[in-house]
Amino acid sequence: MGNRPLRPEPDEAKELKADFHKNCALSAFALFEADVLILVTGAGFSADSGLAVYADVANVKAYEERNLTYQDICTPQWLHSDPELFYGFWGQCFNDYRKTQPHDGYSIIKQWRDAKNSGRVASELRALTEDFTKEVEEKSRRMMEEGMTDFCLPSFPLITRPEPYDIEGYAGAFFTFTSNVDAHSFDVFQANEIREIHGNVELWQCSQPNCCRGGERIFRAPLGHSFTVDTETMLAPMGNGQPHDAPNSKPDYEGETETIAKQQAVKSEHAETNARISKTLGSQRQYPLRFMPHHNSEFYEFTHNHPRCHICRSLARPAILMFDDLNWVDNDAQEQRWHIWNESLISLCEDRAEASDEDYGKERLKICILEVGCGDRVRTCRM
Ligand SMILES: [Zn+2]
Ligand SMILES: [Zn+2]
Repeated sequence: MGNRPLRPEPDEAKELKADFHKNCALSAFALFEADVLILVTGAGFSADSGLAVYADVANVKAYEERNLTYQDICTPQWLHSDPELFYGFWGQCFNDYRKTQPHDGYSIIKQWRDAKNSGRVASELRALTEDFTKEVEEKSRRMMEEGMTDFCLPSFPLITRPEPYDIEGYAGAFFTFTSNVDAHSFDVFQANEIREIHGNVELWQCSQPNCCRGGERIFRAPLGHSFTVDTETMLAPMGNGQPHDAPNSKPDYEGETETIAKQQAVKSEHAETNARISKTLGSQRQYPLRFMPHHNSEFYEFTHNHPRCHICRSLARPAILMFDDLNWVDNDAQEQRWHIWNESLISLCEDRAEASDEDYGKERLKICILEVGCGDRVRTCRM
């Protein structure tokens, strides 16, 4: 299928290692020369922040005793058969992601993004993306007026639903495409240049398959929320979660340096131990979701340790693609932004390819796709 990570043969690996510095220089040159940068990340990218990878996340006593692996736990069925286990797992993932700082790689790539976005290609792409988006919006409006709903045309995603967060502007010469669900991209990148192919832990949905069609099918967890999870049993009791106005519910920037120093000390002590659920290795998250702009619909019914749907009050679940999951609600608007930006990019590439060689300033586009931490366990990023 071509979606397996390339594994060099032993002699190839030897060659690559021998030429390590030369290869780094070549990669750096490709990055530097590129007009457009696409960042594709998988679990390995999150692991560098001190978060657990799939192989390790469920490696704790509570799950071992119940003979449960990550694959067993990461299914929607627990929501009904054992809600305390379900919210224990997802609640603790949520807590872990919420408190952990994205690693420095994010801000390094942000600098590259800024460099690409200052070029002419970025302005052209942004303009194309804007035009294309408005075209699709206009088409959607006409269809709605003619009484067609989006359910008539599942293959044609329409921008008619209210979005779970506000979006401003259009992506330029950068986009990130990730299978990670920690939503850490939103601390660094703009909301209009992020595609999360498996959803993220910040967005929640109803557990009932056909609830609130046409309404706000996905909603945000409040910034101050955290789940109460017993990390011995990994169970989340049904009672109230932490109230949103609890003293430590807002990111606390004071004493930051000290906390980081302490955590780094802990980190080096346990350098041999891989991160697991509730046992992450990173430092305190500094600017959680800085670029996921709020809008009014947050805080819906999200006051409990087992949160509920804002429409029908059934149990809510993270809008994350799980195993054996027929009920996941994708962020359609995000999917559409990615799709529209791709179309714009392809159209600009075609335009440049047609231009003659003498056409100054119309050289073929150089696109750099940077893949980081996409293993072969869950291979979405290669499809
Ligand atoms: Zn709902
Ligand atoms: Zn519902």
